[in-house]
Amino acid sequence: MRCRLSRFPLTKAVPLAISRGTTAAVEHLLLELEHDGITGLGETGGFDTGPRTYTTEALAAELEAILPALEGLGPAPFQTVEPLLQALSSPARCAVDLALHDWWGQRLGQPLWRLWGLNDRAISPTSVTLGLGSEAAVLERLERWWGQLPATRIKLKLGSPEGLDHDRALVRAVAQALERRHQSDGVASELQVDANGGWSLEQALPMLGWLDAQGVVLVEQPLAPLEDPEADCAAFASLELDCPIALVADESCWNLADLVRLAPYVDGVNIKLLKSGGLSEALLMARAAQRLGLGVMLGCYSDSALLNGAAAQLLPLVRWPDLDSHLNLVDDPFTGPVLDGDRLRPAASPGLGVIRARG
Ligand SMILES: [Mg+2]
Repeated sequence: MRCRLSRFPLTKAVPLAISRGTTAAVEHLLLELEHDGITGLGETGGFDTGPRTYTTEALAAELEAILPALEGLGPAPFQTVEPLLQALSSPARCAVDLALHDWWGQRLGQPLWRLWGLNDRAISPTSVTLGLGSEAAVLERLERWWGQLPATRIKLKLGSPEGLDHDRALVRAVAQALERRHQSDGVASELQVDANGGWSLEQALPMLGWLDAQGVVLVEQPLAPLEDPEADCAAFASLELDCPIALVADESCWNLADLVRLAPYVDGVNIKLLKSGGLSEALLMARAAQRLGLGVMLGCYSDSALLNGAAAQLLPLVRWPDLDSHLNLVDDPFTGPVLDGDRLRPAASPGLGVIRARG
């Protein structure tokens, strides 16, 4: 197959601040795999989860190094390519995995969700993200989202460098805004929070009950992820009994092995394709989560409609969709997933259902 790797910029309409810093623009990589007149598309890009950081530069170098070997293979059967992917980091593997899935779905003439037997009518509303900022800026961001879609699930970033008082002020302000909307329009909304590992255990424990009292339904990654798997599980275990709301692991959960070790201590996991290394592992994780009684969140980094269109293939397996990054871009080169009210749906076209709109 013919392989082509290129770079493209992604610029946010509204920069996103979380506990680890602010992102306004990124550069991502497009991998195109062409064979028999069909081109499969894959995307990857750098991101930072605290202990683990990937730069787009390093991912490009990883992919460029395997392209000659990849060119010697065909896109099917998938299994013949797998040994080549084992040595790659998960975000580099993601680009190849997505392009192979896209090629495969296009060859068979079906979207992946249909090939997997999923029901595209069984999709929950996606959340929209409010980054850290002043109360006024966060409320303004909420209004801007509501001008774009009738969002009923709001995810508020916490773990502010200004401390817990600021976190509490943001929760109160957003909860009141949701209540005002409920009173005026009769639309009930769900408030989730994501600390992105920004709290200590001493800070997190009293916050959990307080969040419940404010009507928050879910908290993501209260404590920083730990590289030692046992210590990381112990950190979640120390919160579990005091957590009256859904406790979800994000930065601590990359793959199926992480999901299995964390399962006794959490209510759900946030699956992201750049962490899992693409759809192969993500599908396993979503199916395993179902069997283990865990809720699945499906999230994103600063990703385009290509990565989110790929992730959208899994949405019928997801309790808490969180694929809003492409909705906040001014220069997305791709189109694919369809916004239907406050639900994001995968395209009905074959493969990932993603096309290049421009560039
Ligand atoms: Mg998160």
